Amino acid sequence: MDRLFDHALGAYLGLAIGDALGATVEFMLPREIAHQYGVHKEIIGGGWLKLEAGQVTDDTEMSLALGRALLAANGWNGRVVAEAFVAWLKSGPVDIGNTCRRGIRRYMLEGTLSGPVNNGDGGNGAAMRILPVVLATLNDKKALRAQIIEQCHITHNHPLSDAASLALGEMTLILIKGGDVKTCRTVANELLAGHPEFRFSPYPGRASGYIVDTMQTVLHHFFRTDSFESCVVDAVNRGEDADTTGAIAGMLAGALYGANAIPKRWLDRLDSQISSEIEKQVEGLLRLSL
Ligand code: MN
Ligand code: MN
Repeated sequence: MDRLFDHALGAYLGLAIGDALGATVEFMLPREIAHQYGVHKEIIGGGWLKLEAGQVTDDTEMSLALGRALLAANGWNGRVVAEAFVAWLKSGPVDIGNTCRRGIRRYMLEGTLSGPVNNGDGGNGAAMRILPVVLATLNDKKALRAQIIEQCHITHNHPLSDAASLALGEMTLILIKGGDVKTCRTVANELLAGHPEFRFSPYPGRASGYIVDTMQTVLHHFFRTDSFESCVVDAVNRGEDADTTGAIAGMLAGALYGANAIPKRWLDRLDSQISSEIEKQVEGLLRLSL
């Protein structure tokens, strides 16, 4: 398989697998997870959403909606993206964050593609779904940055959400294109220089849906592990917003290690409709970036 395709696919499948794995332990605390599972490392479904094994949640579904919009419009069109979020909301998703729901409702009522800057928008719901934009703009950093911010602002308008989303987008781009972890560390250091609250060493230990907690958990585990499996397992066993930390950690780890490095037992468990749509989107989105 072509190297670029393998790592792009790894990022997208990694996102979905981290989501499916983490959802089982979402909102649990690390010691509750340890008590119930020892180390949670199998995709078994369940959790507070009572999922099927291999079922994904809003993190993957919103990414797929964004990817569909990019493919339908042959590139960026904010209105098409917002409409794709509306269609997803109306499809009765298994889960949806409050900030995402509020933002999509605002678009439905007012037709605006962004709300005002809002202190309450510091959740991780915009950062979790940036991947399709990255895949569609691999060779155009200006477009990458502009589109990440525009897609964020449809539901989240907050400087920390923006900064985290940009850093994640750049790191993912670097890794998919064959860059190394050291270069990613530079991007992370730039994030910390602009926004010291993201400092993740020493690791503060929180993994909530607040974008600062989410980023600290993802970055701490991403930089301290040396395989796809250990990165995702270590992140989700921190509990709290485990499907989302799992999804973002899985995106970075998949971009670094490639789809070939994802354990087969996880790939086999992932909902096959999801994995086949992911594969098709990766092909189409990469074509958009050429
Ligand atoms: Mn979720
Ligand atoms: Mn979540």
